[in-house]
Amino acid sequence: MSLIERQANIRIVLVNTTHPGNIGGAARAMKNMGLAELYLVEPKEYPAPRAVWRAAAARDILDGATIVETVDEAIADCGLVVGTSARERRIPWPLLNPRECGEKIYRESATHKTALLFGREDRGLTNEELQKCHYHVHIPSNPDYSSLNLATAVQVLAYEVRMASLADEQGNLPALTDWDQPPVKSADLEYFHEHLATTMAELKFYDPENPKQVLTRMRRLFNRVRMDEMEVSILRGLLTAVQRKIDRK
Ligand code: SAH
Repeated sequence: MSLIERQANIRIVLVNTTHPGNIGGAARAMKNMGLAELYLVEPKEYPAPRAVWRAAAARDILDGATIVETVDEAIADCGLVVGTSARERRIPWPLLNPRECGEKIYRESATHKTALLFGREDRGLTNEELQKCHYHVHIPSNPDYSSLNLATAVQVLAYEVRMASLADEQGNLPALTDWDQPPVKSADLEYFHEHLATTMAELKFYDPENPKQVLTRMRRLFNRVRMDEMEVSILRGLLTAVQRKIDRK
């Protein structure tokens, strides 16, 4: 399978972009590398002439872009979500380098939708948004000036996806072993986490002094495990059984 056949399963998501020029620049970077699925989460100024100008011959990518209001909407149907980060974060998260990221995205796009999330020019992605991601990817830049221009960051990571596709065409990318169930989609994982949080609260389980930390750690745990649809539905059933028991008392 070539990159063109996988295009529909590789989504670039730009969150709250301020400068329309960066949206155009990202569209161009994508088309140059053979990607096409652009999602814009609440862009500040869009549509805009500057976006069209920077896109050059990638106008079609802009015209085909999907505009949504939340990150949740942008990733709802995705089985793999990778968030970009210009710097190290407080809570360590499973981290990929750009090469590993390109391979993972390319490989998984054979069977399900994948998304790469890019943050705001001034402050990147929020912690809450980063916690929705299975992995984080950092382009190893100069630590004294680590933040790349947004469209440039899209260029680097899109290039790595292309390199993985070329390696695959040459038979240099070993196939993944088949799994019997599809990975859980982001929207269903979100419902699971809400269900888990409610049940833990009903059980008076988590430390009221520090509830956020527990929920963050649960998100990290389950993102690391990469549950499939069946596993999530079993756990949802278990939570419901626990809730019924609490009700009866
Ligand atoms: N001051 C912000 C920088 C945001 S740069 C911060 O510290 O988070 C805008 C976006 O470009 C980032 O959200 C990310 O999507 C991308 N980006 C910039 N530099 C990057 C890097 N070194 N690695 C990965 N993504 C990067």
